[in-house]
Amino acid sequence: MNQFPNQNDFGDFVQTFQIEDLNIRGRLIRLDDAYNAAIQAHGYPPAVKSLIGETMVLTAILASALKYDGVFTLQVQGDGPVSLIMADITSDGAMRAYAKLREGVTQDDIEGASIPQTVGAGHMAFTVDQGPDTERYQGITEITGATLAECAQNYFRQSEQLETAIAITADADDSDDVRAAGLMVQRLPKARDGEQEEEDWRRAVVLMSSITSKELLDRELTATKILFRLYHEDGVRLYDPRDLRHECRCSEARVSRTLRSFPREEIADMADNGIITVTCEFCRTDYVYDEQRLDALYADTAT
Ligand SMILES: [Zn+2]
Repeated sequence: MNQFPNQNDFGDFVQTFQIEDLNIRGRLIRLDDAYNAAIQAHGYPPAVKSLIGETMVLTAILASALKYDGVFTLQVQGDGPVSLIMADITSDGAMRAYAKLREGVTQDDIEGASIPQTVGAGHMAFTVDQGPDTERYQGITEITGATLAECAQNYFRQSEQLETAIAITADADDSDDVRAAGLMVQRLPKARDGEQEEEDWRRAVVLMSSITSKELLDRELTATKILFRLYHEDGVRLYDPRDLRHECRCSEARVSRTLRSFPREEIADMADNGIITVTCEFCRTDYVYDEQRLDALYADTAT
């Protein structure tokens, strides 16, 4: 998969860290193969590719702050040219993502545009699904920033009341070797007097902002090097990184279950020459059902 055998330390992972002296927790995320796999087979314009990369990074950032056993989903939805960007991550690190574009949208329409211009007026929603007998956790926030990172920062400020700074970046070009990365720092609950804490927080954010997109995406610069360079004076402590990967959860069994939840006649109306093709939005896998298979499917329900 990797075309650069000597430069393969970029990886797909979440690196959690703590800056002891500043009472701050953070995460560094990098996506390489997982991001490339997610955009393959879609033929997105480069600007959409990078939006997906950024959304995947943000999804990993947000999910890593929660304890859950199931699926965390992030949806960015609006009335603009890119009407939906969706990414999800399981508690064991399997990620997938896709974007929906309005008909005829090209790179020229969205190149260099802000989130309100690409996604339009809309919202960002988070869901945690932990299985059929559990309550769904949901968070929702209006799109109120120029970038995804800004939208997420606003969300944290409003709903979690946690001071959070986030930087996200993703390649946007025509190559098949794109990377995405993000860095987040979050202020932990009070440990010392207010003024010092303000000062510490400002310092952590200023240091974070000193890293460039180029550096975050640099194959030669490992996560350890980046974090050490930024925060070694303040006692940065790194936890074991968590691996991420691309994996779609679609399957024939799931598609069959969905089809069977509709009456046979309705399904028959959707057929093209007697054939139903269901395409997974995430990985573009086609599931094809002819009359015979549909017969078998509905015969199953009868029993
Ligand atoms: Zn799929």
